[in-house]
Amino acid sequence: MTSAFQSQRSPEDSQAPTLEKKVTTVTILLVEDNSADVVAIRRSLRGEGGDRFQIINVDNLSAAIDQLQGEGASIGVILLDLGLPDSDGVGAVQEISHHAPKIPIVVLTGCEDDETGRQALHYGAQDYLYKGNLRSETLIKSLNHAIERQHILGRLRRSQTHLEEQQTFLRSVMDASPTLMAVKDLAGCYVVANDSLAALYGTTPEQMIGYREYHVNPSQAQARHHEQEELKVVQGIREHQIDQEPCQDLSGGVRWLQSIRRPLLGRSGAVEWVLVVMTDITARQEAERSLWEQAERSRLLGQLTYQIRESLQLPDILQTAASQVRRFLQVDRVMIYSLMRREVVDLKAADCGKGYGILEDGGAALAPMYKFWAVQRAMQRVEQEPLHGAVGFESREQIVEGVSSLIKAGEGLSSNSVLAQIEALRVRSLLVVPILKGEYFLREQHLQAQIGESDELVGLSPSNLPMDFIDEGDLDAENLNQQSTNQQTANQQTVNQQSQDIEGDAQAVVARGRLWGVLVAHHCADERHWPQWEQDFLRNLSEQLEIAIQQATLYDHLSKVNRKLEQLATMDGLTGIPNRRFFDQTLHQEWSRGQRSGQPLALIVTDIDFFKPYNDHYGHLAGDDCLQQVAQALAKVARRSTDLAFRYGGEEFAIILPNTTMLGAIAVAQQVLDHLWSLSLEHAHSKVANQVTLSLGIASFLPSSQQDPGDLIRRADQALFMAKEAGRNRAIALGDALEDLRPIQVLHPHANENPSVDT
Ligand code: GH3
Ligand code: MG
Ligand code: MG
Repeated sequence: MTSAFQSQRSPEDSQAPTLEKKVTTVTILLVEDNSADVVAIRRSLRGEGGDRFQIINVDNLSAAIDQLQGEGASIGVILLDLGLPDSDGVGAVQEISHHAPKIPIVVLTGCEDDETGRQALHYGAQDYLYKGNLRSETLIKSLNHAIERQHILGRLRRSQTHLEEQQTFLRSVMDASPTLMAVKDLAGCYVVANDSLAALYGTTPEQMIGYREYHVNPSQAQARHHEQEELKVVQGIREHQIDQEPCQDLSGGVRWLQSIRRPLLGRSGAVEWVLVVMTDITARQEAERSLWEQAERSRLLGQLTYQIRESLQLPDILQTAASQVRRFLQVDRVMIYSLMRREVVDLKAADCGKGYGILEDGGAALAPMYKFWAVQRAMQRVEQEPLHGAVGFESREQIVEGVSSLIKAGEGLSSNSVLAQIEALRVRSLLVVPILKGEYFLREQHLQAQIGESDELVGLSPSNLPMDFIDEGDLDAENLNQQSTNQQTANQQTVNQQSQDIEGDAQAVVARGRLWGVLVAHHCADERHWPQWEQDFLRNLSEQLEIAIQQATLYDHLSKVNRKLEQLATMDGLTGIPNRRFFDQTLHQEWSRGQRSGQPLALIVTDIDFFKPYNDHYGHLAGDDCLQQVAQALAKVARRSTDLAFRYGGEEFAIILPNTTMLGAIAVAQQVLDHLWSLSLEHAHSKVANQVTLSLGIASFLPSSQQDPGDLIRRADQALFMAKEAGRNRAIALGDALEDLRPIQVLHPHANENPSVDT
């Protein structure tokens, strides 16, 4: 391809004939039928400078044309008579110049007729001469001038062609550029505009040239703004850049432009034009915006995930998720349902905008519908990647359509009640996001193992699903305590429940088994589109919820196990009442508390009388049984919430009585003696009665820093020893050793009084 720049350096120019070089031989084609004139011309050429011409003479037009076609290249100039036998007048000039456009023509006329001469010039002749007055000098000069003019004309034509080529080239460069370009003059009229700019205004560059911007820009306000900007450039004589400005395009959309305006100086050095270059940065802006949105989304997700992970309490996690999602999606209602049990509607969390509440039953009629869609989505999630996290309905019509196809699928729903609830809740757009149980990969592995064996999913039945496919029961706090013992039976019941659910669709079973619940968003104010990125966001969120739910569940299980372990560590295995370990802890706690509050702390220690003979006589098992009954009797008497009975060791027990004076403790001891007596536990080998009896030692201290819990124990032990010594089946109370109170003896009504003890 030859560019305009290459053609500029065309060899033609350097080879263009100059007068000096060609001066030696110039062939004249003399078209003249009058031989006298031919002679006269030959003679005229003998003058000075005429010797370089040689003549080829033809006497008619067609011979001349033949000659030009044959010898055209060697002819330097044509001398043409206008009165030829086969042509008359200026028509011959036309003919000749048509056949030899590059050879100069000098016309010979018979009469002095300027009009004919001018016509000849008009048709391409370089000069015209009158034959009647043809001087040698005139002829030679005319021929030389004609040749020279023709050269100049040729050069002119060539440079014009270059110029045109160059312009076309520049034009095509400008038009091919995606940049919008224009040059305007000081009157604000377009001098140049490229295709891209014209396209923005829905016109062509040609239609813009010579017009001001308000003629071509559909936005008058914008046209005004642009002209003001250009005025600034002209007045300030410096470049001006606008980083981004909106521009309405033809379809009514907005394009973003970055523009540079620069003054262009003329030869005088003054500003004559303004160059306007604008770049369409809409795509870049959009890319930047979507990048920003993406960053914003992950920031939000991170924040939300953090908040969710902050807590291990499932209710908190779900409530946070519901309210954050509502805020994020800008919707009117967000609810999270647990769907682990088929019939139970378990609304776990809800967050509603002003004026949008929850139905009293939590939306019971809609829950099976959510579940159906969630199961469908969950099935897809099991099967395919990438996972699509949500089922969205953008209008009431779409919801109704969805409901009717669901009814057709035979989910046992009543179309009326569903639609009535949708109506009552004023739902106009609806989004359902399944929340699955965690351990996705484990489950996948398990499935694959199943498939490996049976080669198809249909082989699955609830009985060979892993345990965590099956309802894990409720995570509510009130159910936690009784749960462990009922767990086995509950699971079995759920298995049975789920067997009923299966209608031959094993995948649905698996999906349903994996489903923990759903997150549902309602928009009521108007219809709403659920863009893909929002669905992606919710999918990520539901994955985070899966993890959080799993963690909370694990934490919950762990807490339960911990509580049990703690119980095991502090409870006495045989009697079921707190053990010595727990006694020590409690006594220290209560001692400190008493010290702080200034309240007395009482302790009763008690020992079964003649228990060795009991064991020996009735056997160890009966002895154990007796210990249990005594423990229950003590626990029953220590009724006040703060009182607590312990197995202290062997057949010894203790009761800690916070905020209890000596008298209070004596009253409790009295009750113990009475209650045990009333049980009438047979003891044939006791020396004090024919039933099981206890001896009790009582102490009550005002806890102080001078003493410690050990002092209290020792004092109570001392009292117990005294009670044994005094004859058993009784209680002895000893006050604080520092106070030096006398012992008080509490005799059981049926006890034999022993005079050896002071009263
Ligand atoms: P006293 O009236 O002086 O208290 O005489 P005692 O026979 O009750 O006292 P002793 O300390 O001689 O005997 C305590 C008995 O308690 C000995 C032991 O066999 C029995 N014993 C301790 N722990 C258990 C237990 O866990 N189960 C059973 N069956 N017996 C126990
Ligand atoms: Mg003992
Ligand atoms: Mg004993």
